[in-house]
Amino acid sequence: MYSITPIMAFQDNYIWALCQPDNDFCIVVDPGDAKPVQAFLQLHNKQLTAILVTHHHHDHTGGIATLRQDWPNVRVIGPSAEQDKISGLTELVQHNDTVIIENMQLNFSVIRVPGHTLGHIAFYSAPILFCGDTLFSAGCGRLFEGTPKQMLNSLNTLAALPDETQIYCTHEYTLANLAFAAYAEPDNITATNYRQTCEELRHKQLPTLPSSMAIEKKINPFLRCENKKLQQQWQANSALDLFSKIRAAKDTF
Ligand SMILES: [Zn+2]
Repeated sequence: MYSITPIMAFQDNYIWALCQPDNDFCIVVDPGDAKPVQAFLQLHNKQLTAILVTHHHHDHTGGIATLRQDWPNVRVIGPSAEQDKISGLTELVQHNDTVIIENMQLNFSVIRVPGHTLGHIAFYSAPILFCGDTLFSAGCGRLFEGTPKQMLNSLNTLAALPDETQIYCTHEYTLANLAFAAYAEPDNITATNYRQTCEELRHKQLPTLPSSMAIEKKINPFLRCENKKLQQQWQANSALDLFSKIRAAKDTF
């Protein structure tokens, strides 16, 4: 039994908080800002036991220092490959490591997902996936540091997780991504219908997340690069060629 709550930060960031009903402890993921996390913990009377960090960007790490002042024993777990760029980490992890949160009886496996940044990691505890800025609903992160090949490999790794995987990415970009998806693959009826569902959610100011891997495989053009028809439409001769083309097109969409 657990609940995962989006704590809103900045314009469109979600800091995910994982809590359990009969447990005083709480985990947060990518706290770019301490204030809304402090308010959440106070409101729900929870103790912060661990912070999971997916990558070094400030909108995912900016709250760490303050939260460590509030909770001197908090574990701050992040990518060893980005340790020079993230201050306040207390535990460094890499691909295939297991993070054990004993006081919540939770285990996360660490998955390397380079592309958006080179040391980017995801945390997976079936069916929960915290994937930072790698896989978004109907989209994927920009390639600030990695190559298209690295990002496509990372997305393929995530897509190999079970269909019921719940995708907790860190931005509410879904509607903008679905607008691009409609341009990239106009005859994708599932994506068209899903866009309507998400528009209704946003109209009620509800998050479109989590998404599921089953949905993403149907609507996310960046997970559909093996699709021959889509390759033809974009005059691409391989999955990587298609991925590179649509990633570049999205950058200027
Ligand atoms: Zn980022």
